[in-house]
Amino acid sequence: MILIVDDKPENIFSLKKTLEIHNFKVDSALSGEDALKKILKNTYSLIILDVQMPGMDGFEVAETISGYSKSKDIPIIFLSAVNTEKRFITKGYASGGIDYVTKPVDPDIFILKVKTLHRLYEQTRELNEAQLALRAEIEFRKQAQAELRERVQELRTILESIPQIAFTAKSDGIIEFVNQHWFDYSSSENEFPASHPDDPSVEKEWKKTLRSGGSLQLEVRIKKLNEDRYRCHLLRVSPVKESNEIVKWVGTFTDIEEQKQAEKRKDEFLSIASHELKTPLTSIKAYMQLLERSFEDNAARTGETGKYLERTQLQIEKLHSLIADLLDVSKIESGKLKFNKKLFEFEPLLENSIDIIRQTNKDISIIRKGSANVQVYGDEIRLEQVLLNYLTNAIKYSPDSTEVHIESHITQDHHLFVHVRDFGVGISGDKKANVFKKFYRVEETSHRFQGLGIGLYICSEIIKRHNGTYGVESTPGEGSVFYFSIPVIPNE
Ligand code: ADP
Repeated sequence: MILIVDDKPENIFSLKKTLEIHNFKVDSALSGEDALKKILKNTYSLIILDVQMPGMDGFEVAETISGYSKSKDIPIIFLSAVNTEKRFITKGYASGGIDYVTKPVDPDIFILKVKTLHRLYEQTRELNEAQLALRAEIEFRKQAQAELRERVQELRTILESIPQIAFTAKSDGIIEFVNQHWFDYSSSENEFPASHPDDPSVEKEWKKTLRSGGSLQLEVRIKKLNEDRYRCHLLRVSPVKESNEIVKWVGTFTDIEEQKQAEKRKDEFLSIASHELKTPLTSIKAYMQLLERSFEDNAARTGETGKYLERTQLQIEKLHSLIADLLDVSKIESGKLKFNKKLFEFEPLLENSIDIIRQTNKDISIIRKGSANVQVYGDEIRLEQVLLNYLTNAIKYSPDSTEVHIESHITQDHHLFVHVRDFGVGISGDKKANVFKKFYRVEETSHRFQGLGIGLYICSEIIKRHNGTYGVESTPGEGSVFYFSIPVIPNE
């Protein structure tokens, strides 16, 4: 909008008309004071200022405007009878956007000057805006860079203070930082510590991880430059992502040698203890059988002595199966769990397992669904062990329920699926993944039910060794479904 300042309304009128013909929007003021008020309130792109006005004259108005930051850049066209005071005005108003029109006004020259100065104003305004945006952008980038530097520094300080070997790498895998511990194991920051000749190469595994974009977890033996003995380390590398893009990698090597040694000692103890326990137990079992046979008298067998004998035998059986499980665990650990595989019919095995469970759990009804009329190549006794374990657990962990369902079906791709469903205590989400791990027991329920936490671990190993899969679905308070699948022989 253009502001015309003149004390004579007729002058304003004619200038306004001229400007409006050229599509300019026009505002007007009849005195210098009035003009200043309007300038403070509104935004103008050009001011046309009559020099000679009663009260504040045009020069004074221009000088005052030049003092306001809001208006100092607005171009001015002075209207005067003569233009001798030009020097004086220029001093007062330094915006550069100044021109003069002498009265009487020639409309063509007037419009030409208005257009030029108006364009100048628009250009200056655009330039100022672009400059402001650019400054803001520079400021933003500077701040972001400073923040990034600070974060990187913070990360490095943390990585220096931890007891692990630590490093960070750029998104393309080039190592950019290693902490002091690194140099105990490698002479160059560009080279990973060398792993034991029998272990996977860290460099190769790292390259694979880079290609996959996932994270890496690897147990490797590495040694200090000045030592001969290798120590087991857990290498963990994870990508750092921003807006789903990998921007960095962070990795650590944690010394787990002590842990490994302790695990080894525990496994050795387990193996020795279970072997040592098995020998006397086998003798006890044999003597018990002799004792039972020595009772010629049937009355004694059914009396008190017979009752105690039966209970003792039951407890011996329990002890026997506990020790057998412990032995199995140590055999799995040492890779000595043997499988005696042959071709057999699965259905009778399944029926037989259910019968065994029915005989010892008379209060529970085991409901059978589906069929398992297929041939399987596997170890019958070991697979029975899995079935008995699933069924025993289903009953054990359902103290208030009287039903267990067992369902089997054969898939198109020649797999036998067996599901054992109970309506018992169930398992919460985060615990489900762990129940097949060695010695794992769900903490909330472990005090209510006896066990060692190895049954499912042995089952998982047996199923794996039959190229099968296993798992559990469960809702706490409602029950669980434990399942496994194994390949079957197609009947052609
Ligand atoms: P154990 O029963 O001797 O503890 P398992 O290896 O058979 O060992 O089972 C591991 C853990 O899994 C159990 O301690 C229990 O917490 C949980 N679990 C197994 N079966 C069930 C089930 N049917 N319902 C609920 N929890 C179960």
